[in-house]
Amino acid sequence: MRIEEKKIICIICPLGCDIIVCGEVSKSATSKSDVSRKAGKIISIEGHKCKRGELYATDEFLAPLRIFTSSVRIIDADSPLLPVRSRDPIPKELLLQCVEQLRGVELQAPVGLYDVVIPNILGTGVDIIATASVPTHVKSSTLKNNT
Ligand code: SF4
Repeated sequence: MRIEEKKIICIICPLGCDIIVCGEVSKSATSKSDVSRKAGKIISIEGHKCKRGELYATDEFLAPLRIFTSSVRIIDADSPLLPVRSRDPIPKELLLQCVEQLRGVELQAPVGLYDVVIPNILGTGVDIIATASVPTHVKSSTLKNNT
């Protein structure tokens, strides 16, 4: 455990309060179950104007989560890349590892909207899903032959 102080800008409403959080932090969370356990504890929290801001800053301090967005290669499609995202937020510290995991992935068209691209990424319990529907590319020679 170590003591840390962080300035967190609340993004819950347009006021954007600067919240100063001081607390103890332990090993960072790496999975959903770690996140639910919340590593560390809050010692003091100042600058928030409401309970929602306090909760947001607490979560940001102890176990920040983010929706991961990226793209993966796809073959036999009009575009070589398919946009993807995590179905739910994942620990912020895992975002770079997610990029690494997706680097070698190559899908085959067609892919449907919200199809699972990688289940349970990095053991977080969260799936990476497609955020576009991509049909199989129809070759122009095929089109000519059909006319
Ligand atoms: S602390 Fe409350 S008032 Fe301030 S930005 Fe967050 S939600 Fe808005």
